[in-house]
Amino acid sequence: MAAERKRVIISACLLGVNCNYKGSASADYLQGPFFSGRLAEKFELIPVCPEQLGGMSTPRIPSELTAKAGEVISGSGKLVSREGADVTACFLKGGAEVLRMARLLRADFAVLKSRSPSCGKKNVYDGTFSGVLVEGPGITAQMLMDAGFMVCDELEFLELFDGTDLGV
Ligand code: SF4
Repeated sequence: MAAERKRVIISACLLGVNCNYKGSASADYLQGPFFSGRLAEKFELIPVCPEQLGGMSTPRIPSELTAKAGEVISGSGKLVSREGADVTACFLKGGAEVLRMARLLRADFAVLKSRSPSCGKKNVYDGTFSGVLVEGPGITAQMLMDAGFMVCDELEFLELFDGTDLGV
């Protein structure tokens, strides 16, 4: 019997879905393994865009965290758009929806796009809209990790599964 494919929550923009704030996909990966159908042969993919799931439009004005994701989730921090709007509720809703799907579909782990205020795992922009990164995850990544899901970014994923013939 064939081995069961791992069930993977994945940032939709990594798969070429045009869902980021510019209304495009993750350009770095358009020609890579994420954009080829080969990933779907190896894994059962569950594409999500937490910002869309949170009710934000596409394209949209970019947003950044002004506090650590954990502080935002506990109610003591917020996210703002580049025009100064408080968009915290959308990000929390999007993260909650992704977490709901991860639980419902019993995801094995998540692969999330780096540096996003939703999906970033290691770094996010610092809230000044000047391109400065600070350590820490985005809202959705934090929620998934808090719930016990393994989260990796796209580079960690390629390292972890190097040798599984992803066509890199
Ligand atoms: S919220 Fe996540 S899935 Fe959606 S565009 Fe941003 S990085 Fe990609």
